[in-house]
Amino acid sequence: MSKVALVTGGTRGIGAAISLALKEAGYAVAATYAGNDTAAAEFKEATGIEVYKWDVGDFDACAEGVARVTKDLGEVAVLVNNAGITRDTGFSRMTKDMWDAVLDTNLTSNFNMCKATFDSMKAAKFGRIVCISSINGQKGQIGQVNYSAAKAGTIGFVKALAQEGARHGITVNAVAPGYIATEMVKAVPEDILAKIVKGIPVGRLGEAEEIADAVAYLVSDKASFITGSTLTINGGQYLTS
Ligand code: NDP
Repeated sequence: MSKVALVTGGTRGIGAAISLALKEAGYAVAATYAGNDTAAAEFKEATGIEVYKWDVGDFDACAEGVARVTKDLGEVAVLVNNAGITRDTGFSRMTKDMWDAVLDTNLTSNFNMCKATFDSMKAAKFGRIVCISSINGQKGQIGQVNYSAAKAGTIGFVKALAQEGARHGITVNAVAPGYIATEMVKAVPEDILAKIVKGIPVGRLGEAEEIADAVAYLVSDKASFITGSTLTINGGQYLTS
């Protein structure tokens, strides 16, 4: 039977590319989303991938959602915490709501989703968790105090959980994309985007498939010795050791 892979925010952008790459790799895939029913229905129609709607920032909804996926497809062996949002503005203008929304969706979601899946991975003595961080969590970004904090927190979360999962056959890694051509990035004003592209040594935005291929590798059997790491995929824009 196929292993089950759950991709949060798996119906659009980078997540959709990850869902497809994992389907191609032979997994039974569940793709979740938050509210865009039209995009989710179109994605399901085009790919045959099952879609599920819940808010990854809601602890109980994650537990219930994972229970539904498990009933439909089987225990989750591969979890990709990809769902994310931005609420950008300068710090003085940033409201508590903007902080909470971004932290809930981008950071607390990792806790919620791992709590709902980690023990069954432990019981199965196998699990793969990949959390999508960001270049802006590594370097910080003006106008993104909330997002940078959540994405940096994701890297710390991964490093700690990796150490707990290791002896149970569970690997936990982060992927930190640079600027990828999705709706999130297309929403950036054109002049600012042009400046960003100038700062990318390879001279272009990344493609969602380039992130998806890396995730497919990290969850494969070939990557069983890679855990607690952050894979930087940013066209050379920001280099960390
Ligand atoms: P998109 O905005 O294109 O897609 C986001 C997906 O996440 C959608 O499926 C959306 O569902 C879902 N989602 C949003 N909020 C929630 C929620 N509360 N609960 C469940 N699902 C939710 O994003 P990207 O593909 O651009 O980004 C994917 C990930 O990659 C994010 O974590 C982002 O921070 C990260 N990233 C992106 C970069 C980029 O350049 N695009 C760069 C670095 C990191 P719905 O369709 O219903 O809205």
